[in-house]
Amino acid sequence: MAKIAFIGLGHMGGGMAPNLAKAGHEVGAFDLVPEAVHKAMEAGCSAAASAADAVKDADVVITMLPAAKHVRAVYNDDVAPNAKRGALLIDCSTIDVDSARDVGAQMAAKGFDFLDAPVSGGIAAAAAGQLALMVGGTDEQFERAKPFLEPMAKAVIHAGQLGAGQAAKICNNMILGATMVATCEAFVLAQKLGLDPQVFFDISSKASGQSWSMTSYAPVPGVGPETPADRDYEGGFAAALMLKDLKLAADAARSVGAYTPMGAEAEELYQRFVDRGGANKDFSGIIKMIDDSWKVPQD
Ligand code: NAD
Repeated sequence: MAKIAFIGLGHMGGGMAPNLAKAGHEVGAFDLVPEAVHKAMEAGCSAAASAADAVKDADVVITMLPAAKHVRAVYNDDVAPNAKRGALLIDCSTIDVDSARDVGAQMAAKGFDFLDAPVSGGIAAAAAGQLALMVGGTDEQFERAKPFLEPMAKAVIHAGQLGAGQAAKICNNMILGATMVATCEAFVLAQKLGLDPQVFFDISSKASGQSWSMTSYAPVPGVGPETPADRDYEGGFAAALMLKDLKLAADAARSVGAYTPMGAEAEELYQRFVDRGGANKDFSGIIKMIDDSWKVPQD
């Protein structure tokens, strides 16, 4: 069993780190928020006093941070100067392809194996060890990393070389942003047409309108499996992070000349939702903006 440093214990990392401890690894956990470290400790990890403290004896370092600037800072300031020679470094955050390649090259120059391994699935999948991980790195690096990713995942897929995991993730989340907006619009229209939201869910989740946004993450309280909609859109995948991913997709599309009109429309709508104060709400909360008169159905 390995010594793993896990840095970033938010909505996702807070669920992922304990699954590595449950698999028998010794997990040293760190987050800037002390309460998050405390929760990880209660779930079987040990508390580290700082990122530097977490990585100093670790065989493997896993990070789950908000955005590229955090990833660059943690790897350059905390990990590279303090990690053991030859430690395996895996970043599970969602960041742009170029930043992943830059950080990977910087870590390779210091003698570390670095992989990008962004995840798909919400907080429930993170807690249940049921994420899909898409991994960028060489064949050898992938084989080395796989056993440490499996306890957090239902699928660990080698996407290609360094940065390929992020490319897959950005494309995937462009679909997610667009399908969530479409699903919200459909629920609002269905209700205005007199359909019961549960009946519409029962139909559409088995018909051609089904998608993950509908079947696994229905944006309507009391409909489908439990989702952030049942908690007034608290927790889950913050709209600000969805907007971040849509901007990453737009930048990537511009850089290669790809035409992505639905992604652009979803980006504009999420920008408006964030500007109206929705940044920290779950991204499915955009249903409230799509129809200001949207009412939570009452029993
Ligand atoms: P989050 O904001 O809940 O968690 C990030 C954590 O990183 C926070 O607890 C923060 O305190 C910590 N952090 C920031 N800088 C740090 C530092 N220097 N040292 C230690 N800790 C630091 O975000 P999240 O929802 O857990 O998402 C994390 C990443 O996963 C993002 O890149 C996001 O895009 C991606 N993601 C999220 C979801 C989701 O459903 N929430 C799904 C898939 C992917």
